Amino acid sequence: MKLLIMGRPGAGKGTQAVNIKEYYKIPHISTGDMFRAAIKNETKLGLLAKSYMDKGGLVPDEVTIGIVEERLLEDDCKNGFLLDGFPRTINQAIALDSFLTKNGVKLDAVLDVNVKPEILVRRMVGRRVCKTCGATFHVEFNAPKVEGICDNCGSQLIQRADDTEATAKNRLEVYDNNTAPLLEYYKKQNILKTVDGDQPLDKVFDDIKAVLGA
Ligand code: ADP
Ligand code: ADP
Ligand code: ZN
Repeated sequence: MKLLIMGRPGAGKGTQAVNIKEYYKIPHISTGDMFRAAIKNETKLGLLAKSYMDKGGLVPDEVTIGIVEERLLEDDCKNGFLLDGFPRTINQAIALDSFLTKNGVKLDAVLDVNVKPEILVRRMVGRRVCKTCGATFHVEFNAPKVEGICDNCGSQLIQRADDTEATAKNRLEVYDNNTAPLLEYYKKQNILKTVDGDQPLDKVFDDIKAVLGA
């Protein structure tokens, strides 16, 4: 299964990606996670990415495309993968297409987790992530059993630096301007599958399995 998962910031891509990864046994490749890991490790890439991410802007295409291509060439991607948060621009989509064609690979589906923008700032501002294992929670919609503590591993939950109200709003605008046109792009390729992301977590996953025919 070779998949992309798309959706506005806060739509639930990362949350559903965890389910998809387990169910279909494919690696989850999140450019946002890769950039956050680079920031944590204080690499050159991290420093560069941070300057864009903190404002809610996009990391430049040439950098982003490079790290994704490198990742897709690793062995664990041979039988499938789930790309999350990439591509985010038409340039990235075209680069991905030519990379996949060159390697004799075709995407099976592009999932669009569709959520109206109104609720998304609240989803982002209330998001909490585990410092250690990366699990995602929400203070209202998906609260951990003990406030501030990860259900999975007991570590501390933190708020992402870009999950402030102002940056969240900016990210939604960046999505409309740069990423939304990709839906049309994949629709033309006949591989776009839209699911309603404004439903309980489990229901969204049921719908994903249904559209993927599994
Ligand atoms: P994305 O990866 O698209 O930015 P996340 O998966 O991190 O989104 O979800 C954003 C926030 O919304 C998280 O705090 C998550 O727990 C919460 N969330 C995800 N899916 C739902 C849902 N279907 N209903 C309510 N809250 C959700
Ligand atoms: P969300 O889905 O909540 O916006 P992500 O973790 O996917 O969160 O992305 C966080 C940030 O990382 C983005 O706002 C952007 O700055 C950067 N980023 C992630 N993926 C890309 C990409 N494909 N191209 C450019 N920048 C990206
Ligand atoms: Zn954890």
